[in-house]
Amino acid sequence: MTTGGAGAGNTGVERIFTGLGVSSGIAIGPAYIVQLDRPKAPVFSITDVEGEQARFAAAVDEVRIDLEALKDSAAALPDTAAEEITLLLEAHLAMISGSRLIRFALKKIADDKCNAEAALDHAVRDIADQFRALKDNYIAARIDDVEAVGNRLMRALLKLPYMALDSVPVGGIVLAKEISPADTALLDPRRFIGLGTVHGGAAGHTAIMARSLGLPAVLGLDPAALEGHQGEMLIVDGTGGRIILNPAAETLRDYEARRTAAEAARTALAKLATAPAVTTDGTEVILRANLEIPREVDAILAAGGQGIGLFRTEFLYMNRATLPTEDEQFEAMAGVVRAMQGAPVTFRTLDIGGDKLAKSVGEYLGESVNPALGLRAIRLSLKEPHLLRAQMRAILRAGALGPIRILLPMVTTADEVEQSRKIMRESYKELQKQGVQVPPQLPPLGTMIEIPAAALSADSLAAVSDFFALGTNDLIQYTVAIDRGDDQVAALYNPLNPAVLRLIEFTIEAARRTGIPICICGEMGADPRYTPLLLGLGIREFSMGFSSLLRVKERIRQLSLTGAEEHAAEVMNQYEPQRITDLVHRYTP
Ligand code: PEP
Ligand code: MG
Repeated sequence: MTTGGAGAGNTGVERIFTGLGVSSGIAIGPAYIVQLDRPKAPVFSITDVEGEQARFAAAVDEVRIDLEALKDSAAALPDTAAEEITLLLEAHLAMISGSRLIRFALKKIADDKCNAEAALDHAVRDIADQFRALKDNYIAARIDDVEAVGNRLMRALLKLPYMALDSVPVGGIVLAKEISPADTALLDPRRFIGLGTVHGGAAGHTAIMARSLGLPAVLGLDPAALEGHQGEMLIVDGTGGRIILNPAAETLRDYEARRTAAEAARTALAKLATAPAVTTDGTEVILRANLEIPREVDAILAAGGQGIGLFRTEFLYMNRATLPTEDEQFEAMAGVVRAMQGAPVTFRTLDIGGDKLAKSVGEYLGESVNPALGLRAIRLSLKEPHLLRAQMRAILRAGALGPIRILLPMVTTADEVEQSRKIMRESYKELQKQGVQVPPQLPPLGTMIEIPAAALSADSLAAVSDFFALGTNDLIQYTVAIDRGDDQVAALYNPLNPAVLRLIEFTIEAARRTGIPICICGEMGADPRYTPLLLGLGIREFSMGFSSLLRVKERIRQLSLTGAEEHAAEVMNQYEPQRITDLVHRYTP
């Protein structure tokens, strides 16, 4: 929604767009509008074939210089980001060095006597069609690369600037149509200070990433928000769910004051980093962090995180053409175990599939009519056990350096846990036989409860699991049939839906009866409004993006367990969603 009376793209007039505020805080800075679509190619005939081919060759040279420069600047990024971006840029450089794409376009100019843009457009489309026709997932994934290079070349020919996620100016605010989980790994959080996108829901990966990096973010924006001007002044109000392009002087002053107040509140909250998470009546709660990219470790420690409750290993598989080796995985994992200085790290095995795609795994993922219900996570790991074995070996080796736990994603049946445990045992013995250092004992093997079937059979799963982790992001999605990343139905994605609450309660009870620990690592656990209810239902361990840790700790320290239990009992007696929401949102200890 827009207000301000100006058409998109006008300057000089304040324009407000409302959306979903998924990560709180205020950011003020120049807009960096990411336009990844290929501009439309003009089509005309030419007579000077050599001249046109030379113009195309000049564009290729310009793109090569840009890519080389980007590669140099990527070297200054944190380790894993540098490696990922360099690999990607090298693949793109290879594609403009005498590749089929370039030969095809040059030939087209000569054969059809057409302009370079039209020839390039043909070449990109033809190659993409040929790749698609091969019906091979690995090759299909290369289409993105051909299109990205085609996009860069087209912009060079048309003398339009290329805007990509890997070249955000320092202090900029990214505005984009969408940001895929793989794009996330390309974003250097030191460079930009806020985020706005057209697509994405509150529990989708863009939202999780923004929260975990502490970046104010608004998703679900009107596409017209992208029609602003590069560098235009922009405010992202992640708390109120709006962005303001070209704010009036008074609006700017107001938001600068709000930003200062938010910073003061953050400084005050930072004092809680070393305080215990304990209720007023003495119940201790464990607060751990979710980790996507290893560079978050320092911030997790600074926020007082008592270990990692969820290490999403799929991020090690993104933005690369080949699978990470066991050694590469071990290095990344060992770095985190060492950095956590004796606090436990929970490694979740690969959760690829659904909306989390990685080219490197493409060859193992067949086409799926409905990827959210397809070959994902533990299903893939058990279908291709060599993937799981490599992960188990890397995790167990990292476990020789500090306490670890292993967590299985998207489990539906006890059999999946048992098969995985067998692979864990075999990998452990194999490593011992090879004289490789492993932990003194097999680590705890836990189960994510994030599919309604798993919650409903929590008793049988508890019997074969050493701990449970409640993945409410998927549990809500699959229970209420609302895509967690779809902005069109975002309003219906409700953690307080009575069906969801009953599944959570049932799972906690099953864990309690069997005597295994249970933690919550979905986004619901990161929202302090739900802390009394979750505590009252029996949760004593939370894991969340580090930027939420202190707010949840502050809330825990205001609550009494008795009060929280009474609150939970009252909520669980209701069946009216609105009544539940009112009770939860208005609860005061
Ligand atoms: C979840 O589903 O709640 C969860 C923690 O896993 P992910 O967000 O990685 O799917
Ligand atoms: Mg999940």
